[in-house]
Amino acid sequence: LNRRLAEFGTTIFAEMSALALSTGSINLGQGFPDTDGPEEIREAAVRALRDGRGNQYPPGPGIPELRTAIAAHQERRYGLTYDPDTEVLVTAGATEAIAAALLALLEPGDEVIALEPYYDSYAACIAMAGGTRVPVTLRPHESSFRLDLDELRDAVTDRTRLLLINTPHNPTGTVLTREELTAIAALAVERDLLVVTDEVYEHLVFDDAEHIPLATLPGMRDRTVTIGSAGKSFSFTGWKVGWVTAPRELVSAVRSAKQFLTYVASGPFQYAVAEALRLPETYFEEFRADMRAKRDLLAGGLEQAGFKVFRPAGTYFITTDIRPLGESDGFAFCRALPERCGVVAIPNAVFYDHREQGAPFVRFAFCKRTTVLEEAASRLKTPT
Ligand code: PMP
Ligand code: GLN
Repeated sequence: LNRRLAEFGTTIFAEMSALALSTGSINLGQGFPDTDGPEEIREAAVRALRDGRGNQYPPGPGIPELRTAIAAHQERRYGLTYDPDTEVLVTAGATEAIAAALLALLEPGDEVIALEPYYDSYAACIAMAGGTRVPVTLRPHESSFRLDLDELRDAVTDRTRLLLINTPHNPTGTVLTREELTAIAALAVERDLLVVTDEVYEHLVFDDAEHIPLATLPGMRDRTVTIGSAGKSFSFTGWKVGWVTAPRELVSAVRSAKQFLTYVASGPFQYAVAEALRLPETYFEEFRADMRAKRDLLAGGLEQAGFKVFRPAGTYFITTDIRPLGESDGFAFCRALPERCGVVAIPNAVFYDHREQGAPFVRFAFCKRTTVLEEAASRLKTPT
């Protein structure tokens, strides 16, 4: 393994899902729903397969039907207009979109500012692109993790090329407010930075929180690459269909890298995702309401078990603080948890460069059936 990748080892998600399997534990680690997305969308995939649509290489940038549906979704929800032919790119999941964007837009030595804790692939992709990551830490406040705008500003140097933003944020569940996004946008404009914004949890915001795409802020459309995922929005994480929307030059750059990573994303699923993006608003409302109820169920269980819970405004993850349990090392806690009570979770420290900052935090995924969450809550309450 080369020096660029040596520090990364095996992703925590593979390690923890293997641990869940080998110990027969409830897997609240890796974030994937245990209920698949809508039946009619699965049927659409089967129809495409049977009709021979997409069984051979689809067009490199994605099938026109899907690119049109992505553009229509951005327009309908956010008033953002993108030309489906030149400003939309279909990728093999958001994971490939992140990789292709960073590989295409960074020069070796460029600095990338990322919100810490950060999704693990960001660090690896910045490294593969020869860039340098500059983490800006979200700090725990009473009920949520927040960005310190002065710290963000201070992190920008003459070498900064790009801001890598994620809202709703994995793993903290923070949804950036309009005020925070306005400050990020002003900084990007002032320092002439590109922005890659991972908005895969755009449909998972709860209560009063609102998802505001960074590209909608003044001066941002022209410098922003926005990333979405059918895995997250429609509960088909195994299909690996994601997308990028951005101005023409940026999409063209990302496409240059993407064509040599996978060339294209899988064909029949693209037809199905095009239909999914056209589902009526009731689908998204029900999806949100269902996840909100699951959030409340697991948050309540974790609180009763003694955790401090940061109730997330978005995503399907809850970050907890384990110090009220008399614990301080999230790694040790997560490694012992399957034995103690048959539940798997993720130590947030893996998402930090400043590991000590993340040490006492542990993430639980709540995209699971109610009965599974109830059982997990009861096991967490009575560890053996
Ligand atoms: N970004 C974030 C913040 C994620 O949580 C995930 C999924 N875990 C991804 C990107 C990757 O999405 P996909 O499965 O579409 O590749
Ligand atoms: N995004 C998912 C999570 O945060 C995992 C995706 C993966 O396994 N790479 O849990």
